[in-house]
Amino acid sequence: MEKVCLKQGAVYRFTISKPLSFSAIISIDNLAFPISLGGSRIYSYASKEEAYTDATRLSKSMSLKAACAKLPIGGAKGVILCDPKYKNREFLEAYATCVHSLEGKFYTGEDINMSPSDVDMLLEFSPYFLGASKQQSRYGMPAKATALGVVSALKSAVNSKLQKNDLKSLKVAIQGLGSVGLHLAKHLAQAGCQVYGTDIDVFRVQQALKEVEMTIVGPDQWCRLDVDVLSPCAIGGTINNQTIPLMKASIIVGSANNQLENEVRDARSLHQRDILYCPDFIASAGGIINVYAQLTGYDRSEVMKKIDMIGETLRDVVHRTKQTKRSIIEVAQKMAHEYSEKALEAGMSIPVSNQKGNL
Ligand code: NAD
Repeated sequence: MEKVCLKQGAVYRFTISKPLSFSAIISIDNLAFPISLGGSRIYSYASKEEAYTDATRLSKSMSLKAACAKLPIGGAKGVILCDPKYKNREFLEAYATCVHSLEGKFYTGEDINMSPSDVDMLLEFSPYFLGASKQQSRYGMPAKATALGVVSALKSAVNSKLQKNDLKSLKVAIQGLGSVGLHLAKHLAQAGCQVYGTDIDVFRVQQALKEVEMTIVGPDQWCRLDVDVLSPCAIGGTINNQTIPLMKASIIVGSANNQLENEVRDARSLHQRDILYCPDFIASAGGIINVYAQLTGYDRSEVMKKIDMIGETLRDVVHRTKQTKRSIIEVAQKMAHEYSEKALEAGMSIPVSNQKGNL
């Protein structure tokens, strides 16, 4: 294992030669936190540099998300540089050994190409994994919690921007009808919204139409719709200098990570167009709140309270932004740093309940 020290955090590089050859990178954004949390993905990166950039960028985003949700943990990310087709028991055992060597500073779970059933197997080799399939049936899917967090942020944004106290008759267009998007659509339809949806996967569209009353539009139509809210729940970078000029919505709130293609440029354009953008690291925190609770002893009512607070956090950020000339992203990032400094100053330690992998 090779350790590269960063300003606050560290990146650990592992090279595994047996039973098959691959490397893994684990980025911990801030080592001052006793525990850091973030998923582990398996991906065929074009280069080690690309994997390194992905791991460090994603661990930073996880830190912002944890801080805005007022969780006393740091952000982290594991990336395994390998074609997922080689994933097998020995491969997972080798990765579990890497995670185990960090002695509980890093807790991790599902992400791209890493499923809850993989986590079941990883837990046979190390206790530092969360989100096993049996845990999901007990604690619920992180995606459901994420969707509830988006609803909380959406209500708050609608209240701030449109001075409305409920979502009745609101027009909302969801991009991506996957795990989060579909749950979100169900909640919004139940709240009386007029729901529009798009997905590039025909199967997901058919599934959504079976479960929710909504209007389906083409992927290119999504950002042009005459709706109140756009909700990006697909991939990153879909808010950019091509799509912003086409928008008629006055609010953007969704779960996708890194929605703005270029943070500075796109935040400025949205501000100029008077579109309220909810930073993704605030809106999408429901999942991390749910997973964190599994680490500390799950209390459903506490989880729901924290998810409800997402709307309050957005309200605070919107209020602070109105008092400055800075973008909502800059204000939210500053607030996140304040929260994490406070958590560190208070020396918050967390009572970990899964040392034996038996959440
Ligand atoms: P998912 O893979 O289940 O769903 C994503 C959907 O988006 C898929 O159906 C896919 O076909 C669709 N899609 C991809 N590109 C598209 C495009 N250009 N136009 C329209 N549809 C497109 O993923 P998910 O778990 O629902 O997560 C959605 C987003 O939220 C992701 O960006 C994820 O990183 C983020 N997120 C998820 C969670 C969670 O708990 N699952 C938590 C935080 C953030």
